[in-house]
Amino acid sequence: MGMSACSHHHQASHGLEGAPLSGALEAAQVRCVRLNERMTPPRRRVLELLLQAGGPMKAYDLIAKFGENGAAAKPPTVYRALDFLSRQGFAHRIESLNAYMACRFGEETHTAAFLICGCCGETQEIEGVAPANLEGAAKAAGYTLTGVTVEARGLCTPCASA
Ligand SMILES: [Zn+2]
Ligand SMILES: [Zn+2]
Ligand SMILES: [Zn+2]
Repeated sequence: MGMSACSHHHQASHGLEGAPLSGALEAAQVRCVRLNERMTPPRRRVLELLLQAGGPMKAYDLIAKFGENGAAAKPPTVYRALDFLSRQGFAHRIESLNAYMACRFGEETHTAAFLICGCCGETQEIEGVAPANLEGAAKAAGYTLTGVTVEARGLCTPCASA
């Protein structure tokens, strides 16, 4: 992922390729059938790009890389695909980065929690850790939650130990 801005040593990207990539796309396809939704070619292509990146991607990078031969997509094509992928839990929008990332757990809509390194930008999804009293507090305020995304900032191991 090209978001690394620092010179601290990092492992190679967490992106998928080869069999793990086709496996993940296949699993998404199966889940779409179960949800009675269609994994159209644009939706599949955007998910593929996110899985390959293994980290957050901005919409304009997805638009630029959309065509297999390097041709850019029409922006609405990518935005509609991102909308679908986020709604169905295949991907998450990370507000503070203004970027999207493939869901690491491939579950139906769940509380997404991200650790974001403030030094290199490395971002990883961790298993749902919704603030314990959020739902109750929202209910008490007469508010119905439709989604929660936790974006926690700190330093990844290489940056913290540098
Ligand atoms: Zn997720
Ligand atoms: Zn870092
Ligand atoms: Zn760093």
